[in-house]
Amino acid sequence: MLRTTIAGSLPKPSWLAKPETLWAPWSLAGAALEEAKRDAVLLALREQEDAGIDIVTDGEQSRQHFVHGFLERIAGVDFSRRVTIGIRADRYKAEVPTVTGAIKRTGPIHADEVRFARAHTTKPLKFTIPGPMTIVDTLADEHYRDRRRLALEFARVINEEAHELAALGVDVLQLDEPAFNVYMDDVAAWGIEALHRAIEGLRCRTAVHICYGYGIKANVDWKATLGGEWRQYERTFPLLAKSRLDQVSLECANSRVPLELLSLLRGKDVLVGVVDVATDVVETPEQVAAVIRKALPFVRPERLYPCTNCGMVPLAREVARGKLRALAAGAAIVRRELTG
Ligand code: ZN
Repeated sequence: MLRTTIAGSLPKPSWLAKPETLWAPWSLAGAALEEAKRDAVLLALREQEDAGIDIVTDGEQSRQHFVHGFLERIAGVDFSRRVTIGIRADRYKAEVPTVTGAIKRTGPIHADEVRFARAHTTKPLKFTIPGPMTIVDTLADEHYRDRRRLALEFARVINEEAHELAALGVDVLQLDEPAFNVYMDDVAAWGIEALHRAIEGLRCRTAVHICYGYGIKANVDWKATLGGEWRQYERTFPLLAKSRLDQVSLECANSRVPLELLSLLRGKDVLVGVVDVATDVVETPEQVAAVIRKALPFVRPERLYPCTNCGMVPLAREVARGKLRALAAGAAIVRRELTG
């Protein structure tokens, strides 16, 4: 019970990419870059294992950004036609590629990364892929001009990819959908439908991660406008409880999410964010334990997975390492209390 995991990303070493930066440029190129990515994956796995994290990821060391790493290998997405648009309902500006033709997966995207990570850890391995709605919200579209249709096209290619990754030994396939906290009407209209298409026929566990975003200024400012109680989850959790996904990863640490909303996810594994990624302050194990205890009235301990609020890629490495250790140690405190 209380098995620990992380949302997905970890900081990259400075010899791989510019530290503490989203969309950080790579520090190397060609074969040297490929080798450095693999080295960084080894370190990411080792740091999670040393800290005592139970379900590990590759730290997303091989991709520049959690959405665009996937899109770079999809035909129909033109990276030479980048435009700056407002994303997440215009919360912040991002330079995104343009959909100019039919969406098609031309070959394996993350297979080599999964094969490498799988070969270098004996722990259960989670792999993250952007969810269809979040992909659609992170590019410009001049071809389909219909968000639902485009999302279902991406769901189809995600599904092709996910089947290969599961066959290579991924234990948990997680779809990242921060957009689910922004477009709640679309979640009901086609968001869950797109997730279902993305996970169709998969034998591994499936998860969706829904957060309030990285700890960057635009997100911190946005959160300040959301009022005393953040109730976005109240609309999506009942839909997810009825869905075919196994796990829901959400944000709790230092958030204004009323914890009773977690009871709306009955029957699902709940990855509870007990580590804040929007601050450099490293939690103490006791602080982590306190958030886990607050969630326990609403989620059974067998179903509760202590996790980070979101990806840790924008943090300093030393900070992220401290947070990993606090996460595992905090879960251990509560585990001891429950087992006496
Ligand atoms: Zn997140």
